[in-house]
Amino acid sequence: MAPGLLDKVLSLVFENSCLICSESSQNNLVCTNCKDELSKQSTSYVRNLKHITVYSYGFYGGKLRQSILNFKNNDKNLSVFFSGLLTQHWLKLNNHLPINNIMVIPVPSHLKRIKERGYCHTTLIAKGFAQNLSYNFSNSLIKRKRHTKHMNKLKNKLERYKNVEEAFDIIGNIHTNTNLVVIDDILTSGATMQEIAKTLLKHNPHIKITGLTIACGDKFT
Ligand SMILES: [Zn+2]
Repeated sequence: MAPGLLDKVLSLVFENSCLICSESSQNNLVCTNCKDELSKQSTSYVRNLKHITVYSYGFYGGKLRQSILNFKNNDKNLSVFFSGLLTQHWLKLNNHLPINNIMVIPVPSHLKRIKERGYCHTTLIAKGFAQNLSYNFSNSLIKRKRHTKHMNKLKNKLERYKNVEEAFDIIGNIHTNTNLVVIDDILTSGATMQEIAKTLLKHNPHIKITGLTIACGDKFT
């Protein structure tokens, strides 16, 4: 085999493989079967928390769960697909949601996890979402100020709320009348979204905050 040919063949195989199931995808990131299955999971969940309403694309299970795990564990290219999914979902919800002065922010990931992965998955989808809709984007507005445990290691709602209590800091100013859209991959107990919204409102009570996630899981009630 000529030098470099193997790389070319491998890159062709990779480019033609679905990032979720690895079957042929005809140069798309995700194959038609996976897209169909995911669109069947689009059930449009809405969760009203104390300080924030969170909209989710679908329930955390089946293909949606598998694709999020692929994205978080090894395939950063799926961010393009997920930001597209959230963009479509947001446009469908258009009547209920703000359209002006929007600033998109990701839920900050653990630094340790970012180092392990090599990328911050929530930043990638939030940035793609903001670019798709020409919204402002910031990944430095909110920071984790202390280490928190993995939420999936905590077995009940109370532990999860305590784990993130006072865990975030706002850096810089947020203009009054800003509509913040906070993006995360999965909403479970809602503790993180709730704490972020509480911290933002303490900083400026005149802003509006909406949550948007790919999936919504068990809420531990
Ligand atoms: Zn597929």
